[in-house]
Amino acid sequence: MPVAELDLATDMHNRLVTFDIGHPEYEALLEPQSAFWTLVEKGRSARLSSDTDFLGRVAESRPAFSAELEHLRFGLTPSAVYFNPTERCNLNCTYCYLPERMRRGGNHMSRERLFEALETLLGFFRTQMPPDSQPQLIFHGSEPMLNRENVFAAIDRFKDDYIFGIQTNGTLLDDDAIEFITSRGISLGLSLDGPTPEVTDRTRHTFNGRGIHNRVLESMEKLRGYQNYSVITTVTTQNLQHLNEMVELFHSMEVPTCMLNQVRCTLPGGLEVRPDDATFSRAYLKALERTHELYRESGRKLVVANFANIILAVVAPTARRLMCDISPCGGGRCFFAVDAKGDLFPCSEFIGLPSFRGGNLFDGDLETSFETEAFKSVTTRKIEEIGECGTCPVRHFCGAPCPAEAHELNGVMESKGAFCDFYKDQVRYVMRLIADGRESDFLWDGWDKGMPMVFQMEMD
Ligand code: SF4
Ligand code: SF4
Repeated sequence: MPVAELDLATDMHNRLVTFDIGHPEYEALLEPQSAFWTLVEKGRSARLSSDTDFLGRVAESRPAFSAELEHLRFGLTPSAVYFNPTERCNLNCTYCYLPERMRRGGNHMSRERLFEALETLLGFFRTQMPPDSQPQLIFHGSEPMLNRENVFAAIDRFKDDYIFGIQTNGTLLDDDAIEFITSRGISLGLSLDGPTPEVTDRTRHTFNGRGIHNRVLESMEKLRGYQNYSVITTVTTQNLQHLNEMVELFHSMEVPTCMLNQVRCTLPGGLEVRPDDATFSRAYLKALERTHELYRESGRKLVVANFANIILAVVAPTARRLMCDISPCGGGRCFFAVDAKGDLFPCSEFIGLPSFRGGNLFDGDLETSFETEAFKSVTTRKIEEIGECGTCPVRHFCGAPCPAEAHELNGVMESKGAFCDFYKDQVRYVMRLIADGRESDFLWDGWDKGMPMVFQMEMD
């Protein structure tokens, strides 16, 4: 039985546990409760665990570690919103978490309503954030570019009030749209699932089954050189064997940042293409190594943001940029979501689940939505109260994501993450990189130089 598994049963409050990271020379000694960790030569953990000098130093640093973690988990206030300006989408991706009836025949938000919504949100953020900081507003899907005229009008109207982002499927970005977005420095996220049309079309296509791969590549070509953009690949059984080719394609097209996100199984379509953890880990870690080779060959990084976030969770928790891998996750506390009717949800992942509606923005429910059962069930989901996760050595680097997925898969939120073994493998790999002094090669240059925390989710 691996050392880590042995120690799962003996993890007590403030107890140091040995964690086998699969490195030839090092293992980790972790204090799961505070997320303190150190690497030690193999076989020395037991001796160090009873070394009074070492234990004294751990005890000294514990309050600082614990306070940082406590703040990150319970002390943050809302500073971002995911905003759906339309219910419609021009694509019918097999794993989409939004119901098809909504994407096919839903409504656009009018310009008047959109402006009213952004004004109301701004008033709320002013009560939550210091006066010199701007909230983030990410236009999100369905497909926000279907309501482009109103979205662009809102961006210009509120340009001094928000930091804007757009998450799009990338099929509707003509030259004018790209000029608008890049000239204003707007953060842009695209989606592409395969290195070839054949692979992309397996999961991402129009309602008529038409492929969109080349259209997205055209947009990426036009964005070459723009630093404020990223491409999300949703990893499924349909593209798992092509992750190396994906990162090679992204690197060749000078994509600055990508994400290789595991498919969310919140709706049945996701579950049907869910990869198993072991196969996923192997392909994912191979692709990460490929990004490292490409960096070594070219001097240019392709940062895999969802993995970089796990590195940050281990080496600098407050520098995290994504808020899925922590418990409670960021949904309903750091950010929330507004759909095209103005309905409020803890996160976009819940938009297709009516029981998680926390009220309506236009009915004046914004403040009270945070106190509703819909929001509270997410914001009070604590890892300590989730069975096996409560004693897991890597619990504060994983967070057991995602509550929406757990609820739909298991009927209760208090169940472990859908990709549990994959998370453990990621943490082991991070610690191996640290042991070999390679972790910075996988992070953004200057990641430690006062970068603001931005709340993005691991989703498209
Ligand atoms: S889901 Fe995450 S926290 Fe829970 S047991 Fe698995 S790795 Fe640990
Ligand atoms: S996607 Fe899931 S884990 Fe991530 S913030 Fe939303 S609800 Fe939380």
